Amino acid sequence: MTGQAANERDEPFTFVIDLHGVLRLAPRRSEHVACAGGDPVLSAGEITFSHEGGRWSVREIGNQSTGYCPAVTSWPAVAIALDHAGIPHPGAFTHPITFRHCPRCASSSIVKDDHFVCPTCDTPLPST
Ligand SMILES: [Zn+2]
Repeated sequence: MTGQAANERDEPFTFVIDLHGVLRLAPRRSEHVACAGGDPVLSAGEITFSHEGGRWSVREIGNQSTGYCPAVTSWPAVAIALDHAGIPHPGAFTHPITFRHCPRCASSSIVKDDHFVCPTCDTPLPST
């Protein structure tokens, strides 16, 4: 992190797709659940925009939300919301994240590098 030197526009935003299919954005450090007003969502994650040639487009997008643990398969709801907002996008999550709920301690965690082990209690996680 380069702190205040970084252009605020280059910072990722927190996003959610609400149940009406509307894209909602909030500053990155916002809780997804607060961004959604506590409601269920169709998808959630982090999004970075680029601004070139006078128009905005999605540069990077991922489903990283430990509040909602959205499935990678929630992408179509994101694509529809971006299409409605007229924002070009990459056509898929650029940073897809796999979440698993631990069968033993019930914590949710992010699976990295196909390492299906709970970081909290070391219990193997289901691979599907
Ligand atoms: Zn566990």
